[in-house]
Amino acid sequence: MSGNGMRLDAIERISQGRDVRLPPAKPVSEIFGSHVFTLQKMKAQLPKESYDSLKNTIETGAQLDPNVAAVVADAMKNWAISMGATHYAHVFYPLTGATAEKHDSFYNPDRKNGGVIAKFSGRELTQSEPDASSFPNGGLRSTFEARGYTAWDCSSPAYIKETANGSTLCIPTAFVSWTGEALDKKTPVMRSTAALDRAARRVLKLFGHKSIAPITSSCGAEQEYFLVDRGFYLARPDLVLAGRTLFGAMPAKGQQFDDHYFGAIPRRVQVYMQEVEQELFKLGVPVKTRHNEVAPGQFEIAPIFETSNVATDHQQLVMITLKEVARKHGFACLLHEKPFDGVNGSGKHVNWSLGNSTQGNLFDPGDTPHANAQFLVFCAAVIRGVHLYGKVLRAMVATAGNDHRLGANEAPPAIMSVFLGDQLSDVFDQIRKGGATGSKKAGMLDIGVDSLPVLPRDAGDRNRTSPFAFTGNRFEFRAVGSAQSVASPITALNTIMADSLDFVADRLEEEMNGGKKLNAAIQTVIQEILRKHSAAIFNGDGYSRAWVEEAARRKLPNLRTCAEALPVLRDKDVAELYSHLRVLTKTELESRFEIYAEQYVKSVDVEAKLCVQMFKTQIYPAAVRWTGELAENIACAGRAGAKLDKSVVTTLARLTEKARKLVAKIEKSLASAKDEPLEKAMAERGRLLAAMGELRETVDLVEREMPDDMWPLPTYQEMLFLK
Ligand code: ADP
Ligand code: MG
Repeated sequence: MSGNGMRLDAIERISQGRDVRLPPAKPVSEIFGSHVFTLQKMKAQLPKESYDSLKNTIETGAQLDPNVAAVVADAMKNWAISMGATHYAHVFYPLTGATAEKHDSFYNPDRKNGGVIAKFSGRELTQSEPDASSFPNGGLRSTFEARGYTAWDCSSPAYIKETANGSTLCIPTAFVSWTGEALDKKTPVMRSTAALDRAARRVLKLFGHKSIAPITSSCGAEQEYFLVDRGFYLARPDLVLAGRTLFGAMPAKGQQFDDHYFGAIPRRVQVYMQEVEQELFKLGVPVKTRHNEVAPGQFEIAPIFETSNVATDHQQLVMITLKEVARKHGFACLLHEKPFDGVNGSGKHVNWSLGNSTQGNLFDPGDTPHANAQFLVFCAAVIRGVHLYGKVLRAMVATAGNDHRLGANEAPPAIMSVFLGDQLSDVFDQIRKGGATGSKKAGMLDIGVDSLPVLPRDAGDRNRTSPFAFTGNRFEFRAVGSAQSVASPITALNTIMADSLDFVADRLEEEMNGGKKLNAAIQTVIQEILRKHSAAIFNGDGYSRAWVEEAARRKLPNLRTCAEALPVLRDKDVAELYSHLRVLTKTELESRFEIYAEQYVKSVDVEAKLCVQMFKTQIYPAAVRWTGELAENIACAGRAGAKLDKSVVTTLARLTEKARKLVAKIEKSLASAKDEPLEKAMAERGRLLAAMGELRETVDLVEREMPDDMWPLPTYQEMLFLK
């Protein structure tokens, strides 16, 4: 009967509509952070001097006292064991973008008394040595130079990871080579935060601030994802191995009704979301928002923003938790940027701001932005940064998956620009013309129905088509891919901003040394920035053709694919930017280029091989079987005097043959494809992707001609609409 029993089984299970039931949920106030070794817990369990010393390290980045580490380790171990932990793991974030962990037991043989004894030294807490040679290092290490170290990041809290069979104490760490080079994504985030602090502090001092707490950036990352029933997922080799469908005809209904966005959340999905949230609450991740996204089967989860380093680690936990809990609920969670052709893909909007505990949010314009010189200076620094180094932002979101999304009329274009909105654009316009004297008012919104409240209206509308939009008190970087770690985009934002703030501080100092008062100096410097860098400001429709042309006139780079965007990391000015701010050395940056380029090449190769395999083992056999059967049956009917049109047979045969030839072509390019030099390899993979696209179009036409019971793959209709 059916070409694929799994499809029918999955449909049968879905039709029974069973939800996974959890024990009644405890109040959030009770579970929030229950699995985290929080500052409160440390305060209760550590001697006062040790606690104060650790807190100082966490808050100011001061050197960690090894004696304190020993005391903390002991307290951490006792807490972890009381939570059922038997092991501890240094968790780190290699350049694959994934999360890595090496587990060790607390227990050692007790040589004196027999049995075992639980031990966890300060040294074990602060340092561990996973073999570095098996992680991508982009030429930073040879295989024979294998040493790598993980180092405890005490500013990101340790937590307990629970499974049905026990618990593990997880310790966030930085991962560096024996020579001190960053092999991970966390180290650059921390280094860029330090650079940002140094530069922002200089500017704040010029504004006369005396007490300035450490400045960090904050990040709130909105994560989009798809859910498909696990039965369908497991029957699709492309979803399992590549995370996206390589074939699949669009069903009669797609997202044309716009009826999914913010729609009522399907019950089974909501049950799943609630468990995800409970797990994240335990881990201290402040998740806040849940809703349906634009495409059928697409959803979003967003936490409240936190300091970038912690938010980055928490973002990794969000992705892991979404995937793990999905399995339990009979779903697969797809984080890929473009799992389905023909409907929207997924992104991860990174909301980013700067601030500290003494000066607050430095991107907060207040009610009268024109009079808020400090805010305007920070904003101008952003404009300069995006204009000079938009290409770096673009490079840091370049992945094979994101290539399918950026610039595809559903996601921001690959051209990096800043959206300021009406109010701010107006203020900057005034400054450009001589001086700002007023701000457009926010005002009230009268809905015209007496029983409805009068709503305060924001001073400007939103723009969903800008890659980098000011949204009231933060910037929203909307080009980040859904499967990506937010670490590299955040590092880039921090680094670019540090550079711009240093520039601003230098220029203000110069002007003031030349005799200008602060306000006059500010006016001069902002005007200068606007004169040189306004090209980066764009408030119009970022999806339009006209913008692509206008951006070209403005000489803004339009780096459409990885092959164009990643080589930016080799540009001299970019190496200089990262190295002079001590975020990444030239060698470290070069290693990033190599690793990201290799990842791109490898993922395209995997997809191409999968195309060939799926075609040969599933699609071609089904198509040939049906063509033969159809031809025979038409002939048979003809003998019985019933004349049936044969054109379906010829259409099918033509399409199948066309697809077979395309597959042969893909196989040939795969066999001859080279991996070096990387720029060439990436361009080659671009051509391979084009061939795969042509194959896909042809196969999707075959699918439309096939009887449902013979089609070997779960269909788009099943995956997108059956929940
Ligand atoms: P949207 O309307 O853009 O979809 P959401 O409510 O889904 O907004 O998400 C907005 C994100 O921005 C949240 O993670 C929120 O915590 C974060 N955010 C709010 N204020 C700031 C800020 N000052 N700095 C960084 N992130 C912020
Ligand atoms: Mg949102």
